Amino acid sequence: MNYEKIPRQSLGFFPTPIVELSKLSEALGGSKIFMKRDDNTGLALGGNKTRKLEFILGDALACGADTIITAGAAQSNHCRQTAAAAASLQLECHLVLGGEKPDIVNGNLLLDQIFGCHIHWAGVNRKGEDIPQIVEQLKQAGKKPYVVPYGGSNELGALAFVEALKELETQRQDTGKSFTYIVFASSSGGTQAGLMLGKKMLDASYQIVGINIDKGETDKVPFDQFILSLANSTAKFIGVNHDFSEEDLILNSDYVGEGYGVIGHLENEAISLTAQTEGILLDPVYTGRAMGGLFDMIRTGKINKKDSVLFWHTGGVPALFAYSNRLNFSKC
Ligand SMILES: *Cc1c(COP(=O)(O)O)cnc(C)c1O
Repeated sequence: MNYEKIPRQSLGFFPTPIVELSKLSEALGGSKIFMKRDDNTGLALGGNKTRKLEFILGDALACGADTIITAGAAQSNHCRQTAAAAASLQLECHLVLGGEKPDIVNGNLLLDQIFGCHIHWAGVNRKGEDIPQIVEQLKQAGKKPYVVPYGGSNELGALAFVEALKELETQRQDTGKSFTYIVFASSSGGTQAGLMLGKKMLDASYQIVGINIDKGETDKVPFDQFILSLANSTAKFIGVNHDFSEEDLILNSDYVGEGYGVIGHLENEAISLTAQTEGILLDPVYTGRAMGGLFDMIRTGKINKKDSVLFWHTGGVPALFAYSNRLNFSKC
């Protein structure tokens, strides 16, 4: 398939900038660190889901949908960006959120409500288990619903990160920068599957290192298997002849700690030090954990001081407000 022809709905501002974090590198005692600022994609406070939604909602419009439905945690960045994108396209939006309706509405959930979407509380089902039943109800009400998968991680979402890697490669060549590693938070797999496929297509030499931030499984499939199968199905989808196997995948699960969204010293230190050296905000659930993992890999020599790293900032900053009681603002 000629994937240039796949419909794409513009939703954000691209290319996102790359900045060098020289003061943070110095504070850690080595390894050049660059950052790809997908926290600045421009859609409703930004994030990596903006890229995926350009393809997924492009498809929704091509299918004639009038209603979008997706799922996530109460503080899902994916849901917030989907709600914003749907509002901008005048599509009705339904979010199926894990947990119960909280007493205080803040962070991403506040933004979901500002965008006027319909929220369905799903208790323990934070990964969209209740979607089929809501889709049925919407159809019966005469709507044309379109399901955006959990985290936007299907072939279209992954394709967005093939394109993102091409965007990065153009910037890298224009500026003469080079990286040994690309490090980022990985949780529903679309970002990692797309970057892996992009690397293969461009024959790039850097290592794609996902930091796993969620202990749980989606649909009972182990996360590494899910990423590999999504990379393979995306390759097939765009006509690339490559079979990904275990040795193509670097998924570091050393930093999942107590599980999804449980904030500890690792995240607090990463958030404080990045803010206080560079004036850049990270989020508590994803980028804070991934950056904390990067700190550890640099300090323990798993990443060599001579190597350089591109940290892909995937967004998530609105969640800081919802986690205020679990953050501590130590001066570094
Ligand atoms: C969704 C998300 C990720 C993970 O991306 P996946 O493609 O779901 O693996 C990382 N960081 C933030 C801030 C996110 O919202």
